[in-house]
Amino acid sequence: MTAESLLGTGATVEVHDVHKWYGAHRVLNGVDLTVRPGEVTVILGPSGSGKSTLLRVVNHLEKPEIGHVSLDGELIGVRRQGDRLKELSERAILTQRGSIGFVFQNFNLFPHLTVLDNVAAAPVATGRLGKPAAVELARDLLDRVGLADKAGAYPRQLSGGQQQRVAIARALALRPGVILFDEPTSALDPELVGEVLSVIKDLATSGTTLVIVTHEIGFAREIADRVVFIDGGRIVEQGPPSEVLDKPRHERTRDFLSKVL
Ligand code: ADP
Ligand code: MG
Repeated sequence: MTAESLLGTGATVEVHDVHKWYGAHRVLNGVDLTVRPGEVTVILGPSGSGKSTLLRVVNHLEKPEIGHVSLDGELIGVRRQGDRLKELSERAILTQRGSIGFVFQNFNLFPHLTVLDNVAAAPVATGRLGKPAAVELARDLLDRVGLADKAGAYPRQLSGGQQQRVAIARALALRPGVILFDEPTSALDPELVGEVLSVIKDLATSGTTLVIVTHEIGFAREIADRVVFIDGGRIVEQGPPSEVLDKPRHERTRDFLSKVL
């Protein structure tokens, strides 16, 4: 298998006027965002600003109170019928979720499965591949993230950086059109951050659509096509790194950058 055919084709993600609240607590207050195929979007913002919630809405883990999200034009979670939005079946949601990879801060690997089985599990469980094909794909993906020699190990035998690279290989196994990363390096010891960022950097040039929440500003400058700064559940500003990071227009963005840089 060639390196690029291992990966999915980049999808378009559109977030339309998304509002999300928990009781009286308004977490997202009208977020509009379009991520084009193959684009790398980095989301920055203070703790509690709604970054994780936004990713969770995109991945169906949370339902917005107002607004909707679409993946390649297909509405996520709801479908349009006339002018009304209708709930999708569980099955349709699972199918869509299969097109979205999610990499969590804390890896979330299955502790009782080997590295190889962690990566091969989803294509088998979803019926996309038989076990032998899934194992072959998993080996190729582990090779891609530099962990071919760890196929038989269990997650607890790996460093945090290695576990996160397995989690990335696992996210790739369904050939997602978009991969969402929620602070993928913030649980790592500093010396392990680089190996994970370099795997993400490799994906950034592969045509897969990436949405990455991170506080790694240097990394954002290097790989982002677009940086989005969120505060208080709203997008305060967005644009290329050379604008948002180097010439921020808003005081809140400047204040945030002065704290993390
Ligand atoms: P960030 O990822 O930017 O730090 P989050 O999206 O995790 O922010 O959270 C935004 C706000 O929403 C926080 O104040 C958080 O406490 C609140 N929040 C998140 N999830 C829930 C939930 N399930 N129930 C209640 N409040 C929540
Ligand atoms: Mg978060």
